[in-house]
Amino acid sequence: MKINVGILGATGMVGQNYIRLLENHPWFEVRYVAASPRSAGKKYSEAVDGRWQMSGNIPPEVTDLIVHDANDVSAAIGKCRFVFSALELSKDAIRALENEYAKNDIPVISNCSAHRLTEDVPMLIPEINYDHIRIIEDQRKNHGWNKGFVAVKPNCSVQSYLAPVYALMLAGFEVKRMIITMLQAVSGAGYPGVASLDIVDNIVPFIGGEEEKSEVEPLKILGTIKNGRIVLFDSMKISAHCNRVPVVDGHTACVSVEFGDRKPEREEIIRIWTDFKSLPQELELPSAPVQPIIYTDVENRPQPRKDRDNDKAMAVTVGRLRSCNVFDYRFVSLSHNTVRGAAGGAILSAELLLKKGYLS
Ligand code: NAP
Repeated sequence: MKINVGILGATGMVGQNYIRLLENHPWFEVRYVAASPRSAGKKYSEAVDGRWQMSGNIPPEVTDLIVHDANDVSAAIGKCRFVFSALELSKDAIRALENEYAKNDIPVISNCSAHRLTEDVPMLIPEINYDHIRIIEDQRKNHGWNKGFVAVKPNCSVQSYLAPVYALMLAGFEVKRMIITMLQAVSGAGYPGVASLDIVDNIVPFIGGEEEKSEVEPLKILGTIKNGRIVLFDSMKISAHCNRVPVVDGHTACVSVEFGDRKPEREEIIRIWTDFKSLPQELELPSAPVQPIIYTDVENRPQPRKDRDNDKAMAVTVGRLRSCNVFDYRFVSLSHNTVRGAAGGAILSAELLLKKGYLS
C-alpha cells in the first residue's frame, strides 16, 4: 500500500512539479494539498486554473482534492504521513510553520531556504551527504519531537557544480578554490516570476541572495556532524556569479577549479565522473538516476533544452572539460532546477529517508 503524502505550496511552480512527478510514484500518493488562504477551499483544478505550468493535464487523483490553508497544521493531521514544503513566505514564517508540522509528528522535507543553515537540519543531496540524515536523532532530541523532523534541499543550482566536484574529492583530489558563473532559468523564480519584458532579449546579472547561497550551502553539504550539529567544511573557497537568463528550465554552471597538490589527468576526471555512483543507486531508489553524472564529449553541450531531461531530469550533465589558464580545469555542468534542483531532489531524499526508517 502506498504512503499518503501532502504538499504545502502545491499550487506553485515547485508544488506543480511534485504533483506531476508523484503521479504513478511506486511508494507515495498525494492525498493532501495546501497553499495560501487565497486557494484554500477550492478544488485543486480551480486553484491552479489558468496557471498550470506543467506539460500534460493535472493527474485525475489530484484534480478534485480540496486545497487547505497551509498555515492550519491541524488540517493535515491524519491525512498524510509527511509533507513536502514548497511555500513562498517570509523565512521566519516558514521556519515557524515547518517546526509546527514537525512538532505534530508530520516530518517536513522542504525546498525552502529558511532552515538550510539551521545546524541540526540536514541539507541533502542524497548522492553526497546521505549520512547527514542521522542528525535527525539530535534534532528530535533538541526539540522534544517524536516522529517529526525537518530536512531540506539546497538551492536549486548547487548540485549542478557540486556533484562533479564532490566526485573528484571522493576520489582523493582536494579542491581548494572554484569560480562559478551560473546561468539560471526563469522557472527558478516561481510563477509568474520575472516579467517577460525584463528577460526576453536580456540577461539580468543579479538574483537576490543567490550568490551567498551558492557559496555557503556547499560547505554545509560537505560538512561533518560534531556534537549534534553540522559543522561547515572550511577547506574550500567558492566565488559565484548568478545571472537570470531567458531559459525556461535548467541551470547551467560554468566552473573553474583549482586542485591541491595532486592534480588529476583529464581522462581520469572523465572516468571518475562516469563511474560515480552512490547510496541512492545502490538502494535502487525509484527517483535515482542510473548515472548521476553524465559526461558529454560534444563540443557545444550541455545545453538546457537538450540535456536538462537526461535520466528523468535527475542527472547532472557535464561537458567542455579543458585546462584553465588561471586555475587547473574548467567545465560546464547543467541540471534541471525544478526537478533535480527542487521537487525531484526532495522526492529522492524522501525515498532515502523512508528506506532508512525515518518516515515510518
Ligand atoms: P511559487 O510558484 O511562487 O509558489 C508559492 C506557493 O506558496 C504557492 O502554492 C502559494 O499558494 C503558496 N503561498 C504563498 N503565500 C502563502 C501564504 N501566505 N500562506 C501559505 N501559502 C502561501 O514559488 P516556487 O517557485 O514554487 O517556490 C516555492 C519554494 O521553493 C520557495 O521557498 C522557493 O524559494 C523554493 N525553491 C524554488 C525553486 C524553483 O526552481 N522554482 C527551486 C528550489 C527551491 P497560492 O497559489 O495559493 O498563492
